Amino acid sequence: MDAPSLYTQEDFGHSPFVVFYEVTRACDLLCKHCRACAQPYRHPRELNNEQSRRLIEQIASFPKKPVLVFTGGDPMKRKDIFDLVEHAVHQGLSVAMTPSATPLVTRDAIRRLKDAGLSRLAVSVDSASPEVHDAFRGVPGSFQRSLEILADARDVGLPLQINTTITRRNVDQVDDMAAFFATQGIVLWSVFFLIPVGRGLMEERIAPEEYELVFEKLWRHSRTQPYGIKTTEAHHYRRFVLRKQGDPQFQPGGAIPGRIQRAPIGVNDGKGVFFISHTGSVYPSGFMPILCGKFPAQSVVDIYQNAPLLKSLRNGDLLKGKCGKCEYRSICGGSRARAYAVTRDPLGAEPDCVYLPEAIREKVLC
Ligand code: SF4
Repeated sequence: MDAPSLYTQEDFGHSPFVVFYEVTRACDLLCKHCRACAQPYRHPRELNNEQSRRLIEQIASFPKKPVLVFTGGDPMKRKDIFDLVEHAVHQGLSVAMTPSATPLVTRDAIRRLKDAGLSRLAVSVDSASPEVHDAFRGVPGSFQRSLEILADARDVGLPLQINTTITRRNVDQVDDMAAFFATQGIVLWSVFFLIPVGRGLMEERIAPEEYELVFEKLWRHSRTQPYGIKTTEAHHYRRFVLRKQGDPQFQPGGAIPGRIQRAPIGVNDGKGVFFISHTGSVYPSGFMPILCGKFPAQSVVDIYQNAPLLKSLRNGDLLKGKCGKCEYRSICGGSRARAYAVTRDPLGAEPDCVYLPEAIREKVLC
């Protein structure tokens, strides 16, 4: 299957670029930052196979087909995950998956996922040090398991992505991780900046000034490492990159190996992205627990296109505080999930950005 057709910001009003479907909350790990507060067992009201297949068909019916990410919990806790991948691929979707690093991800399971048409496997690694990673994931040996999964996926020929959550525990290890990941044959390093929801509340997030230091390192590595780098819930990295480039037309990303197109600039919670829970509840993202609708009672296409909150999240002119005055608001806008987690206002200013927009600077100087 080919990569999804090119997206622009204009498409966000009718079609998301990426849909996260939390196929289950069941998981055998106890990660400290877990958004889902994952449980060992599947929820009795989890969407069943038939409902999940209908949901996938609705997702495939958007005017532009989004990338579909099966997430959790641990998607491997569902025995029908191979069937769901195959069904989504038959519907014309590019499908990625974020399994937990447990013994369920065998080489045979990876091969079956590839045969079903999975485009990319994303594995979480939060340090170049096994001790730091295992403490973060709550299970001794988790680091080693992640490396084994990466090795098996490489052997099978499934494109790989590493997901890392930046917290106080690993903020000083960015360079070490960047160098280590260069040995892992990945196509993309996705660097997620903590949102204080779920178990994430227990973990201290980094200071706004530290974001800029991490951005500098990521920017440097993005020019030299053999894989792409993207940030998640740190939209102000776009502002950082644009100022580095000195070119307002600069479009970071573009096609990379692995058949899933890099997200277009401007993607944010509810704007090019949305999240469907294990029971069919729809949210702007997995880190923004404001209910926007419910599948199967409602169509997810209708929810994405018409839910009042999602429509307002797509309008940069409605942003408040300094984000609303910022010249980067349409391509950045700050993390809506972090604004909500910290201020309880989904349109509030990004609390972890140090930038002073020009409009505010001019006012101060006048
Ligand atoms: S002020 Fe808001 S919109 Fe401007 S760069 Fe910072 S987070 Fe982005």
